[in-house]
Amino acid sequence: MRSNLRPCAWLAIQLSFLLILAMTVSHAADGTGRHLSADVVVVNARVYTVNPKQPWAEAIAIHNDETVFVGSNKDAAAYRDKRTRVIDASGRLVLPGFTDCHSHFLDGALSLERIHLDDAKDVAEIQRRVKAYADAHPQLKWIRGRGWTYPAVGPTNLPNKKDLDSIVPDRPVYLEAFDGHTWWANSKALQLAGITRDTPNPPGGEIVRDPATGEPTGALKEDTADALMLPVLPLPSRNEKIAAYKAGFKEANRAGLVRVHTAGGVGVGMSDLMNADLLEEMRKSGDLTLRFYMAYRAEPPNLTAKQIQEVEDARSEYHDEWISAGAVKFFMDGVIESHTAAMLAPYSDDPKLSGNLLWDPATYGKIVADLDKRGIQIFTHAIGDRAIRITLDAYEEAARENGTKDRRHRIEHIEDASTEDISRFGKLGVIASFQPLHAYPDDDTLLVWLRNVGPERGQRAWAWRSVQADGGVLAFGSDWPIVTLNPWAGIQNAVTRQTVEGNPPDGFVPRERISVEDAIRGYTMGAAIAGHREQREGSLEPGKLADLIIIDRNLFDIEPRAIEKTEVLLTIVGGRVVYESAAWKSATSQKHAEAK
Ligand SMILES: [Zn+2]
Repeated sequence: MRSNLRPCAWLAIQLSFLLILAMTVSHAADGTGRHLSADVVVVNARVYTVNPKQPWAEAIAIHNDETVFVGSNKDAAAYRDKRTRVIDASGRLVLPGFTDCHSHFLDGALSLERIHLDDAKDVAEIQRRVKAYADAHPQLKWIRGRGWTYPAVGPTNLPNKKDLDSIVPDRPVYLEAFDGHTWWANSKALQLAGITRDTPNPPGGEIVRDPATGEPTGALKEDTADALMLPVLPLPSRNEKIAAYKAGFKEANRAGLVRVHTAGGVGVGMSDLMNADLLEEMRKSGDLTLRFYMAYRAEPPNLTAKQIQEVEDARSEYHDEWISAGAVKFFMDGVIESHTAAMLAPYSDDPKLSGNLLWDPATYGKIVADLDKRGIQIFTHAIGDRAIRITLDAYEEAARENGTKDRRHRIEHIEDASTEDISRFGKLGVIASFQPLHAYPDDDTLLVWLRNVGPERGQRAWAWRSVQADGGVLAFGSDWPIVTLNPWAGIQNAVTRQTVEGNPPDGFVPRERISVEDAIRGYTMGAAIAGHREQREGSLEPGKLADLIIIDRNLFDIEPRAIEKTEVLLTIVGGRVVYESAAWKSATSQKHAEAK
């Protein structure tokens, strides 16, 4: 700027300098110059900014919804006046607010009200929780829950309706497995859905039957079997969805999230995009405290011109910093545990199987090229090495054909990329969207996942460090409600690749572990790049949105095993405090009392 000034402007500059000097003397105690007065100033913090030019700072000043200053306590004083809210961080770590790059938000929000079975160890515990919930909710027509694990339901790893009939015989009960691939119905639910011994298995799914009698056991495998239940499941009302969203925002802000990317709904009508009018309504009423970037879910075998128009319409309707659309999500394959992820070579435990592509590569390639040309971002679920390769090929070909650059198409999950494809993420600018907790080395990972791929492919599991080392951008998320929305457990697993008990001792494929800085980056700057928002988000810098969190521990000097217990003390979104923990509130009010 200054170099563009002509000499005739010089006098004006000198005059205004004198004016500024006069204002400085009258307003700012430290003589650093008068700045606009901030609405909020955070002081005495250890700010890790995720800005490589200024990684650490002590203070931040916020005006309206923007950060206007990042620097020392001393210099921050110039931004304070009588009406500034001063937040004393008492030496706590401050980070940019986190983004969850892969969630099914409305599904997750609705599940908050249902029975949680994630940590139930056996059928007796599940029964106890189902009964307590049913007793506490006598008005509910259906008893629903999610999160049960295969080892918990008994030696066959499949649940049985009898265990539910004996506790709730008169109302339908329907419980989803933690991975969203199997459902557990009681007899009443099967009866309402009309599922009997004569009902044929749906394509790709299974009504599990008793080998002796042929009667359905209550276990339904894959979503085509779940689809048999959907017509009789009550859909949530508009008010129920709004209530669920509000509870979901609270949960997200409490976990330190300021934005989510949503990857389409699991249930019918449950995508966030289809409910964007509710988000818009809540924004108007001041209840929206979480930013949304929503993807449209494409179903094979094709994406029609009409559907592409729906995506275009959504993009032109929603495109600001709170609510935006304009991405399309595809499923290229399934999952490794059920042998439905598409592999280049057969599964190690069953050489007859190598998974399936859910899209015809030629059709998919054509759609990708069309969307790429329109500037629509693509998210593709690809887990097996074959699915990942087909997806990368399509992205590469689209960019070549259209001459486009920097579209930042994404691959979701990337559980087992082949060695040759790892460097293509960096080379092609494809975003690597990982959910660190999916690599949590529990029995499901070490016994089932690893057995299915075998030792060689096992060494390429969730290759975070390799993708990053070859220039790929990591974008982290949860896949909520498949796993917890809490990103701190994700950071811990990204850093340790160990269970909370510390197994395996060296970590699961330890060379793919990443540093705390890199893991934070996956939820901040990496996420911002993944959403084309790095100019305004992803780090704490003047001119960016004031989205930040204060947490209870310094992640840089604690045992990695203590990261998952991190508690968020305060969350600011767009300059507004949207969450304060009870401990933080009472500590702050005590401080105030002492000051008086
Ligand atoms: Zn997902």
